[in-house]
Amino acid sequence: MKKADLHLHTNKSDGLLTPEELVFRASKQGLSAIAITDHDTVEGIPAGIEAGRKYGVNVIPGIEFNTNVDNGELHILGYYFDYSSKPVLDLLHRIKNARLDRIKSMVEKLREAGLDISFSQILSIAENDASLGRPHIARILVEKGYVSDFRQAFDRYIGVHCPAYVERYKLEPEKAVHVIKSGGGVPVLAHPGNLSDKGYLYRCIKAGIQGIEVYHSNHTYQQTAELLTLANKLHLIPTGGSDCHGDPDCYGELLLGQITVPYEVVIRLRETAFKNRGESFFNV
Ligand code: AMP
Ligand code: ZN
Ligand code: FE
Ligand code: FE
Repeated sequence: MKKADLHLHTNKSDGLLTPEELVFRASKQGLSAIAITDHDTVEGIPAGIEAGRKYGVNVIPGIEFNTNVDNGELHILGYYFDYSSKPVLDLLHRIKNARLDRIKSMVEKLREAGLDISFSQILSIAENDASLGRPHIARILVEKGYVSDFRQAFDRYIGVHCPAYVERYKLEPEKAVHVIKSGGGVPVLAHPGNLSDKGYLYRCIKAGIQGIEVYHSNHTYQQTAELLTLANKLHLIPTGGSDCHGDPDCYGELLLGQITVPYEVVIRLRETAFKNRGESFFNV
């Protein structure tokens, strides 16, 4: 059976692998399709698609927007959108600059707390022009021995309500859904199992999402079953993916390919994207 992992990060955001390395590993795992869904950036997509041609993997253009709701954050995935469209690129440009300023402010707060870290150290471990995020800071904190692991970095310093936390660019889920659709793409609610409040799921449905991520590394068996029932009832596409960031999970393996969906889901996404653009899937 042909399988797809539809939630993956590269070093163009907070992942560790280059798009080409990711696609190469996906081909070794026998995946037929993958989606590159970096946080707030599309910069890994062209290299990913090129590598896909080389290694025989269908690489789907994707994104993961980090949006804000009252009680925290909510992630919206987008698939098959026009990643060169002006509204998309304008928004991404604003978010990228805001992320740079935010990480600088967080580093400043850490320095005020007495930690010897600098913004140039963050840049030195990030890919050129990457969409910077808290995991980049976490890596430096671990490297310098201030914390033993990521969890401690988030619990002590950079998690919400922690001393060095600075808010991200404010983006409402509705805006993310709108920009994905305006680029002809399919918006999908990411890992709803992590939501602090079920009401947000209904808010996203009202906003116009066309799929929900039923299968995800953080979901329990029961959450997955409930989400699948909901997706079927509401005719939303049940997507899924590992959310691999390129680092090994607790068994020392990459998460890549550990959560997959049948290839039919890829076809449904593509078909829906064509419908969003008013084009026929069968005429291309
Ligand atoms: P940012 O977009 O900069 O706010 O960073 C959010 C990213 O940090 C998430 O997408 C996760 O990859 C990671 N993250 C958030 N909370 C934690 C945590 N408690 N432990 C490890 N990673 C986390
Ligand atoms: Zn991430
Ligand atoms: Fe996420
Ligand atoms: Fe993710």
